[in-house]
Amino acid sequence: MKSFENIDAKSVKEAVGLLSKFHQQKKLAAVVGGGSEFLQLMKDHVVEPDYVINLKTIPGLDYIREERGGFRIGALAKLADIEEHAAIRDKLLILAAAAGDAASPQIRNAGTIAGNLCQRPFCWYFRSSNFTCLRKGGQSCFTVTGDGRFHAILGAGPSYIVHPSDTAPALVALGAQIKIAGPAGEKNIPLEKFFLLPSVDYRRENILNPGEIVTEIFVPMPKAGSKGFHHKLRERQAWDHAIVAVDTIVESSGGVVRNAHVVMGGVAPIPWRATKAEEFLRGKKLDEASAKQAGELALEGAKPLKDNVYKIKLAQELIQRGLLASV
Ligand SMILES: Cc1cc2nc3c(=O)[nH]c(=O)nc-3n(C[C@H](O)[C@H](O)[C@H](O)COP(=O)(O)OP(=O)(O)OC[C@H]3O[C@@H](n4cnc5c(N)ncnc54)[C@H](O)[C@@H]3O)c2cc1C
Repeated sequence: MKSFENIDAKSVKEAVGLLSKFHQQKKLAAVVGGGSEFLQLMKDHVVEPDYVINLKTIPGLDYIREERGGFRIGALAKLADIEEHAAIRDKLLILAAAAGDAASPQIRNAGTIAGNLCQRPFCWYFRSSNFTCLRKGGQSCFTVTGDGRFHAILGAGPSYIVHPSDTAPALVALGAQIKIAGPAGEKNIPLEKFFLLPSVDYRRENILNPGEIVTEIFVPMPKAGSKGFHHKLRERQAWDHAIVAVDTIVESSGGVVRNAHVVMGGVAPIPWRATKAEEFLRGKKLDEASAKQAGELALEGAKPLKDNVYKIKLAQELIQRGLLASV
């Protein structure tokens, strides 16, 4: 690992100020929360910052607060705390389940929600120092001719990574907002708009500009009559990333859908919202036939690589199962 200087930030303002200062000085600086993902990237020489700004030393940024309209979750809240939070388990079960599905108990006890949403891809070509892939300044995404069995089937090209966060699809299904602090102040945006497709920029996964950090997630309370579903399929049950994950929130009355959110993980470079399926479901009675058709619509336009055609059927079946469990 290249040597670097660690700075313990005491406030969001200080962290933002340091990031901006180092950016102007053309020095490479990055923030860390739990460090569970970032330190591995440093050990693997994927990132080699001059400065690491430790956010964990900022007091009070690890809150989980229930308010009338929803939950406010500080950037430093740990995945384990979200997983075990009684009110979240009661009112936002898919978020508790998604947090509990991420990584291993040790990592969930160190890893933060902001780090989970901002983590870099877990593609083996990106992580290996033997490959200079497109995302690391190379000429091509090796997945196209190489081994792409765990890679994207939707929204991909020229890079075929899948977004690695387990909490992101659940939070998008729940309609969460993300708060970003930067040199120009604070802004709140829908989490769905935080992630970037590789066709927009294949060097980064989100819209964060130099000097900006995530400070909070707001999750609105689901409407009355809503039911959720979360399931993550993975190769190994110990710790592993999603091959396919599905998060749904269905608001219904008498078995008829008023509104549905269907979001997939493990299939695209961003949490993938199946908008065609959502539109189709509105006003429909949810049964075997409509759930199956929604699954098929959700995967319309999928362009699998030679090794990952299997993901289409898995995702269709999982959406069907999720929808039927949501009424
Ligand atoms: C072996 C292993 C298995 C894993 N399995 C899974 C899995 O199954 N599912 C899953 O979802 N994740 C998985 N992870 C990824 C990750 O470690 C955890 O999800 C964790 O939540 C990351 O949080 P952290 O605080 O440790 O992030 P860090 O390592 O501190 O940071 C991760 C990234 O986010 C950036 N960052 C951190 N905080 C902020 C902030 N406030 N604002 C802006 N940028 C920020 C950092 O600069 C870095 O790029 C795994 C990691 C490992 C090492």
